[in-house]
Amino acid sequence: MPASPLPSIATARRRLLNREISPAELIEELDSTMRALNPRLNAFISWDKEAALAAAAHADLSLPLGGIPLAIKDNICVLGQPTRCASRMLDSFVAPYDATAVTQLRAAGAIPFGRTNMDEFAMGSAGENSAYGATLNPAGEAHAPGGSSSGSAAAVASGMALAALGSDTGGSVRQPASHCGVVGLKPTYGRISRYGLVAFASSLDQIGTMTHSVEDAALLLQVLSGHDAKDSTSSREPVADYTAALRTGVRGLRIGLPQEYLSSGNAPAVSAAIERAATTLREQGAELVELSLPHSEAVVAAYYIIACAEASSNLARYDGIRYGYRSPEARGLDDLYSRTRETGFGAEVKRRIILGTYVLSSGFYDAYYAKAQKVRALVAQDFAQAFEKVDLILGPVAPTPAPLLHDQDRSPLQVYLADIYTVPANLAGLPGISIPCPQGGNLPVGVQLLAPHFGEARMLQAAAALEAAWA
Ligand code: GLN
Repeated sequence: MPASPLPSIATARRRLLNREISPAELIEELDSTMRALNPRLNAFISWDKEAALAAAAHADLSLPLGGIPLAIKDNICVLGQPTRCASRMLDSFVAPYDATAVTQLRAAGAIPFGRTNMDEFAMGSAGENSAYGATLNPAGEAHAPGGSSSGSAAAVASGMALAALGSDTGGSVRQPASHCGVVGLKPTYGRISRYGLVAFASSLDQIGTMTHSVEDAALLLQVLSGHDAKDSTSSREPVADYTAALRTGVRGLRIGLPQEYLSSGNAPAVSAAIERAATTLREQGAELVELSLPHSEAVVAAYYIIACAEASSNLARYDGIRYGYRSPEARGLDDLYSRTRETGFGAEVKRRIILGTYVLSSGFYDAYYAKAQKVRALVAQDFAQAFEKVDLILGPVAPTPAPLLHDQDRSPLQVYLADIYTVPANLAGLPGISIPCPQGGNLPVGVQLLAPHFGEARMLQAAAALEAAWA
């Protein structure tokens, strides 16, 4: 692989402002990196250089992200660009509007450039469930980049993108960030508008960022946060100054270490990363506090019941009539629905629709869905009690580093169980960030910090302290 300079948003901003490079030249530079690396890595499934150059011609460098190209996950609408959720079902779909997140990026001067590969409809943990083929992990090409924001993580890690948007329903920003060695931030539920994010499980979905640095994560979050009248679940909570928080350090912060997260089932590299993070935080003046999140055992089951239930309802709209793929062989209405959905969806999406329909069916609703909602409330309560004692929680992102690509030995259940450390934040609506931790292994491993609702500033503050200590 040719060496890539891996420029961050902050470094690209400096080059643009010093007139070392023009916005159009920056697009050309990224385009040639994409042409060199993407045929192998498959991180992008489409990109439109002409549209990006047209935007670059009017770039306003006085804006916070003036002239900065950003990669966007394929499930976030970008006006006039294919938005296919890496699904055959949306093969021919071109977004007729911008997602609010994209509108905000454009208003800050950024240029959407490239649609990143993903697990179909964001369902998966390895990027392998894409109708456009798997993405390779730039940090070890025999390995999966993680998922579902596989392409966003690989694009940033390989230098094909300065930064990218992803979406996180159960870990899809934080886990691929951990596996590829980039920073992945999932904000509090409601912090960033979901308008224009194709719905998977609406009560869990959040747009998040994948960046080279904590500073870039703060820059993007600043632009993306805020209330949106088009998303009734978006919050009116005032937006903090995220960049100002970065240099304040961790002295005096209380950071919780849940005993349930220090399982002997974690890979040695993951345990080493947690130990290193705890030591670094202690050295910087934070106090580490052991605590318990007693319902951790039930989080994966609750998540998959709720996520599949919501998905089965959200994906009912792909009926072959309103948009996207339509089976050409259908005879009659019922046949049109079933053939379209049979060929339009991949195996994992179908598995989830079937599971979701089952848990919502009248005979099983109380046994599964209603119970999962109770577990969800208990998980939120665990965190509320924990955050009475600590400012932040430290834990792993995933039990292992990136798995091998196409590992046939892993059953769907084993894959689901590996989401144990990421889904709690979604169930409770909390913000989380994955920061790459040097731990001596061959593959990247991230550590995760979780914060109370709207505690992003403090979370970024501690993440920046770790990053600075490990630089
Ligand atoms: N791996 C989880 C799942 O498959 C998370 C997906 C996501 O966050 N979009 O549901």
